[in-house]
Amino acid sequence: MSRPVCIVTGASRGIGSAVARRFAQQGYDLLLTARSADDLESTAGQIEANGASCMSVVADLERSETPTAIVTAAHERYGRIDVVVNNAGVAPRSPIIDLTTDAFDQALRINVAAVFHMTRAVWPFMRSRGQGTIVNISSLAAFDPFPGFAAYGACKAWVNLFTKAAAEEGRSDGIRVFAVAPGAVETSMLRGHFPDFPATQTLTPDDVAQLVAHVCQDAIRHATGETITLRR
Ligand code: NDP
Repeated sequence: MSRPVCIVTGASRGIGSAVARRFAQQGYDLLLTARSADDLESTAGQIEANGASCMSVVADLERSETPTAIVTAAHERYGRIDVVVNNAGVAPRSPIIDLTTDAFDQALRINVAAVFHMTRAVWPFMRSRGQGTIVNISSLAAFDPFPGFAAYGACKAWVNLFTKAAAEEGRSDGIRVFAVAPGAVETSMLRGHFPDFPATQTLTPDDVAQLVAHVCQDAIRHATGETITLRR
């Protein structure tokens, strides 16, 4: 029997890289995608060293055609897609009055539109097998946005509702959909905004990765639609 296959967006660093490594440890083959070729190759190298097969696709998720290309590449290579982790994200920090149209549009394209396009692209492949799990990386900012993160928090609130709606549609197709909503995670995104955030209050990227892997387990196959928060 072939090994299960997981697609991870934003796999070049941070949470996405940790998710990819965690799934490789659990016996999955991977397709990793992001824009930074060197960082992507570095993650892929760690995965292949653990015996998993790994394909890297350098691509920009701001382009609406990218998700179809990613999903097609995974299916051509592996013949099955079991899990998609929609992790890629950007967090523009600015008061509303100063947030540029470009920064706002970019946040919508990556945090919102790419999640929709990835979901739509993979759906027929999961439906034809009657199984599949999509995990969207949300944020506690969806529930409690700091000043300066209005657009980001609202994008993640959209992710949470889309997760619930997609899960309802997915019940009859065997497709489960979750969101994982962490608080502060020790990554370049966090440190770029909050260099002095206390390290005692941050999650590791692998803390998030373990929860993502957990919701994909067959043992909880009747659960779907939840947004699971995680904080330290
Ligand atoms: P990082 O900034 O470390 O990583 C972001 C990832 O997204 C990178 O791999 C980046 O790859 C990718 N990405 C960004 N823009 C694009 C694009 N246009 N096309 C393709 N890939 C893109 O962030 P984190 O690991 O911290 O965040 C991952 C997710 O977790 C995000 O959705 C974030 O909102 C969420 N999150 C993070 C928290 C934290 O405290 N860190 C807390 C709560 C949620 P590249 O630049 O190579 O394209």
